[in-house]
Amino acid sequence: MKSVRKALRDGELDKDTYERVTCAECGKALKTKNDPDTITTIRICPDCGEEWKELR
Ligand SMILES: [Zn+2]
Repeated sequence: MKSVRKALRDGELDKDTYERVTCAECGKALKTKNDPDTITTIRICPDCGEEWKELR
């Protein structure tokens, strides 16, 4: 869990955003994967593997 939170901070998410960065299926904190080719931030649930896309 600590490594996940650190990764989120590295993604420049503020606390207000972090509150909502959870999986809608299981409520786990999502990992962030930034695609350099797009403006979309991809968040991946480490628990169920669900992917969520978010425009920055
Ligand atoms: Zn999930």
